[in-house]
Amino acid sequence: KSLSFSLSLQAKMSKPVQARRLEGIDKNIWVEFVKLAVTYSKVNLGQGFPDFPAPAFLTEAFTRALAGGNHLLHQYTRAFGHPPLVKVLAQFFEKLLGRDLDPMTNVMVTVGAYQALFCCFQALVDEGDEVIIIEPFFDCYEPMVKMAGGTPVFVPLRPNPPKDGRLMSSADWQLDPTELASKFSERTKAIVLNSPNNPLGKVFSRGELGLIAELCVKHDVLCISDEVYEWQVYDGKQHIRIASLPGMWDRTVTVSSAGKTFSATGWKVGWVVGSDRLLQHLRTVHQNSVYHCATIAQEAMAQAFQRELMLYGKPESYFVQLPKELQQKRDWLVQSLDGVGMKPIVPEGTYFLVADISQFKSDVPDDPNSDEPYDYRFTKWMVKNKGLAAIPLSAFYSEAHKNNYTNFIRFCFAKEEATLKAASDILQKWKQEKTS
Ligand code: PMP
Repeated sequence: KSLSFSLSLQAKMSKPVQARRLEGIDKNIWVEFVKLAVTYSKVNLGQGFPDFPAPAFLTEAFTRALAGGNHLLHQYTRAFGHPPLVKVLAQFFEKLLGRDLDPMTNVMVTVGAYQALFCCFQALVDEGDEVIIIEPFFDCYEPMVKMAGGTPVFVPLRPNPPKDGRLMSSADWQLDPTELASKFSERTKAIVLNSPNNPLGKVFSRGELGLIAELCVKHDVLCISDEVYEWQVYDGKQHIRIASLPGMWDRTVTVSSAGKTFSATGWKVGWVVGSDRLLQHLRTVHQNSVYHCATIAQEAMAQAFQRELMLYGKPESYFVQLPKELQQKRDWLVQSLDGVGMKPIVPEGTYFLVADISQFKSDVPDDPNSDEPYDYRFTKWMVKNKGLAAIPLSAFYSEAHKNNYTNFIRFCFAKEEATLKAASDILQKWKQEKTS
């Protein structure tokens, strides 16, 4: 009797299970490629995380927080950010933005930059709103806009190959000002800016940011500025914060993350800085979803920022040391890729590097029957057959534009020397096999 009862219950389950807002966003590049890397890779330059240790002052701060006898650090703290952390973040960003900040209303701590972005889109984007996204883009912007009911509008950075024979730089990828202006309309609610940009490593210049800012002011558009790579900038270039440009403070939410800042992506501590006018709505999303981030991690991060505040601009500062070390790694990978003919686009920032695979294509022939972009199949083949993991560039493009960018793959160079050397050995051997 009970069996027939449960069968009849099952038969009644005919309502759609999935919420409509999830339509078309179920696939995720990271889930797929992290699994491939775990299964096949000997050398993983795919997903963006350092394989070297986080700085000792950070891990020691965590140990102190854990074992230091303050048992309240194991309990809830303030929902919008542990007071010592929001206070030091406010002090730090006051310096960077050149304005007074209230730690309680101008800063909010989140579960990594991911949740910061999620709060931005949920709080600021409404049904029918358009959100401009600059391609190539960190992939989560598109599904997050859609989940909020918005419509993403894409505008590409266009490559201008250098004519003097030098290697291409991420600075050679630029917005067409007329094309950008044409994307702004009555319906535009926000633009997402990511400088330094993942995957290209482009660091937007003052002129480029000025153009974006002017359009935002003219059309009364908000700016969600993802600056998680703010400290990974090379060759003496300067990272400019769009929130510091005229007219932009009141309309910009700046997103960043300790994962990138302190080489500790697993901690998932992120934050937003912005005007209370905007952040009050992000707080509403945060308090009704996550409510609160791990207290111990926030306490340790507060101490790390205290240290950085004290050492600001000095050679011992982690924010001075990290880019120096990463620049060497970048130069090393640039040289080794150039040496085998996998032409690198030299990044001005981030710890990613995009390289041209054209000269290696003969090993992975095209399949006209496959609807998978060529670079996806190339990277899958490479990890399975050569043990080297990377990410296809077209993963950072919208569906409509993916097929224009299938000749490139992205490497992460925040890796130990031995890891980079192992990657280079794989490529050299591959190159020799091709020519012999
Ligand atoms: N924005 C960009 C541009 C990123 O590259 C990443 C991480 N890869 C994030 C946001 C997410 O950062 P977090 O790990 O702090 O959530």
